[in-house]
Amino acid sequence: MRYEHTFAQSAEFLRQVVKRMGQQNAGLHPFSYAIWYEYVSGINRDLQIALDARIKSEGKLDDAATCALYYKHVADLDAKTALRIGASVGHLVDQVADSATHAGDQASHYGESLERWGETLQRPATAKGEPPPGLADILRGTREMQKAISDLHERLEESRREGQELRREVARAREEALVDGLTGLANRKGFDLALSACLQKDAPAGPGPCLLMIDLDRFKRLNDAHGHLFGDRVLAGVGEMLRANVKGKDTAARYGGEEFAVILPHTPRGGAVGLAEALRALVAASRIKNGSNNQTLIGNITVSIGIADYVAGESAADLIARADQALYAAKAQGRNRVNLAPRPQPEAVSK
Ligand code: GH3
Ligand code: MG
Ligand code: MG
Repeated sequence: MRYEHTFAQSAEFLRQVVKRMGQQNAGLHPFSYAIWYEYVSGINRDLQIALDARIKSEGKLDDAATCALYYKHVADLDAKTALRIGASVGHLVDQVADSATHAGDQASHYGESLERWGETLQRPATAKGEPPPGLADILRGTREMQKAISDLHERLEESRREGQELRREVARAREEALVDGLTGLANRKGFDLALSACLQKDAPAGPGPCLLMIDLDRFKRLNDAHGHLFGDRVLAGVGEMLRANVKGKDTAARYGGEEFAVILPHTPRGGAVGLAEALRALVAASRIKNGSNNQTLIGNITVSIGIADYVAGESAADLIARADQALYAAKAQGRNRVNLAPRPQPEAVSK
């Protein structure tokens, strides 16, 4: 992984990053955190040079400059790494927030103890009429200490609040990283996570999962005839239809391009075929408006669907490959149809 620092090292970086972020005009968001983390930890030389040059020429960083530096020097991480960073930053922020609260509580107990000692020390002074030598210094020192502790407590509280906000930002960024921008469905990464979650060893026993691979028919032709933007509207429309009809524990995703997928974790093959047939019929019956006055209705939009039901011990890649083969068979049989993959034969037992 890109960030191999120990907890103590990263906590020190966090402290430096918070200070650096606080000196800029940009918001305290994960983009800002990421560039400053890479800067102070010294792992991204190009970013350091670019950042120093930018601050030297134009002063404090604003949001636009922060995002530009982030995209240019940090965002080339693959999505998987980005998700892991999000999770570990969130974890780190949680731990720092907890430590801040703990340290703050201790500081305030210590402050109370000092207060009591101060009172006790003052008593003999009142009884005998004059304070013991050095007491005034001790009391002054005590008050200064109390003030410093109370300031520290306030700063820790503030850091804790910032930490929580950062945690929320990280969670939001993580969710966004799993969503397809055009359709609002899960993207490929979201699909991979959902599928591997339902193939986990501790998944409840019972029927499923079943996987549907859905591909728009002759979509290139539709793009060529009506334009790419209209093609995008069709994809968004199919996405909307899937969102409306795939609910609960089931996941609809944009697998890529003009291909969608639906994961049904607890549905038997018969139920999966029924749903696929219903989805196919809904698309085939749809009409989408086009033209400058939105009057022309475009029909003949269809999908082909391949289905595979999980066989115990099968890998995610094998399940996807079987659903894909069923999809291509549906295309070969004339499109606008649903096709169920045969279950693999148990290996022949050699005698
Ligand atoms: P088939 O029935 O065999 O699936 O034919 P097809 O034309 O749908 O398949 P092909 O793989 O030849 O072409 C897929 C087309 O989908 C080509 C590509 O331009 C289009 N496409 C992929 N992603 C997008 C997108 O995000 N927006 C639009 N408008 N078109 C896209
Ligand atoms: Mg297609
Ligand atoms: Mg395709």
